[in-house]
Amino acid sequence: MKQYLRNSWDGIWTVLVGMKITFMHMFTKSVTIQYPTVKVKLPERVRNRLYVNMDDCIGCLQCERACPVSCIEIETVKSVPSEDLGTTSNGKKKALHVTTFNIDFAKCCYCQLCVFPCPTECIYMTETYEFSEFERNSLNYKFATLTPEEVVDKKQKLEVFDAEKAAAKAEAEKAKAEEAAKKTAEDKPETEN
Ligand code: SF4
Ligand code: SF4
Repeated sequence: MKQYLRNSWDGIWTVLVGMKITFMHMFTKSVTIQYPTVKVKLPERVRNRLYVNMDDCIGCLQCERACPVSCIEIETVKSVPSEDLGTTSNGKKKALHVTTFNIDFAKCCYCQLCVFPCPTECIYMTETYEFSEFERNSLNYKFATLTPEEVVDKKQKLEVFDAEKAAAKAEAEKAKAEEAAKKTAEDKPETEN
């Protein structure tokens, strides 16, 4: 009987101790928030999902080279002289079509190392941190803005330009060789005399 009463008292005492903490919290300021309806204010230099402003990207690959986990994939195609790609917002001349610009956020460690070397400041961290996906592949973001048809067109234009340039160079070399041969033929009799 004595043990029974002791056990009962222990039970009541334990509940009272627990309830004391509960009652105390009823009169203190709440530290929790109703996420996701309410969100905490992010620190100024927070690192979240990246964004690339393709209008200002010159395809220099500096961000790709700086990435320690190789999660940035960039491909470019040279523009031909007849194309004017304009300048970036900080005045850098654009000469390359950026045909691929992918960032795989499933691999990204949010180190921000890609941001610092960018000469046009077009790759930067945003405040977006809620972008989970059911499929891993959905985290591979594609920032390039050209359509597949436009990419093919740019590549073909460059091929034609390179072929014409190579033909013109070969023609010039041939003409130069012919000129040299002609000069040698003209000089020969004088040398023999
Ligand atoms: S934040 Fe770091 S890991 Fe992510 S893309 Fe940039 S350099 Fe790569
Ligand atoms: S460093 Fe900047 S300009 Fe160069 S490829 Fe990356 S995002 Fe584009």
